[in-house]
Amino acid sequence: MREKVEIFQGDITKLTVDAIVNAANSSLLGGGGVDGAIHRAAGPELLAECRTIGGCPTGEARITAGYRLPARHVIHTVGPVWQGGNHGEPAFLRSCYRNCYRLARESGLATIAFPAISTGVYGYPMRLACRIALEEAKSALESNPELARIVFVAFSPEAAGIYRETMEEVF
Ligand code: ADP
Repeated sequence: MREKVEIFQGDITKLTVDAIVNAANSSLLGGGGVDGAIHRAAGPELLAECRTIGGCPTGEARITAGYRLPARHVIHTVGPVWQGGNHGEPAFLRSCYRNCYRLARESGLATIAFPAISTGVYGYPMRLACRIALEEAKSALESNPELARIVFVAFSPEAAGIYRETMEEVF
């Protein structure tokens, strides 16, 4: 199962997978960080489709086409803002990953790439977020045999190191 999980250091918009996940904000109308990079690479058609969705609450996810991206789809999910950890943040983050895997399954997608949701502007500590990401990957792989490949995109060498260490603990 572990062989289906890959850690990639770089830019998620370059990946050729069935879906890349966007760490969006609840308006789904674009923002900074990975969200800005995805909208720039996908082109204005992505924003036009997002406008028709009408937003997304924290912990939920919505799927669109990928437009000019090499990825066929974008799954937009809204992570929690870190407020110290006692405001339901872990449950919301877990729910983001679960809803992304659910949408992937419902859409018949086999390969998916995730950024480290909530760990940028939203301030979620990387190590804690990474553990949730990998635990949910394990449970998604256990429950969905169609899931062939999960890529975790680390934007820095430090983040890649944390993913690798956490892999040893979780898998
Ligand atoms: P959030 O608001 O959910 O915290 P951010 O976009 O600020 O979202 O950050 C989420 C993570 O995505 C951070 O770890 C950040 O370093 C990373 N990131 C930013 N740009 C990219 C990119 N082009 N590809 C992959 N990861 C990215």
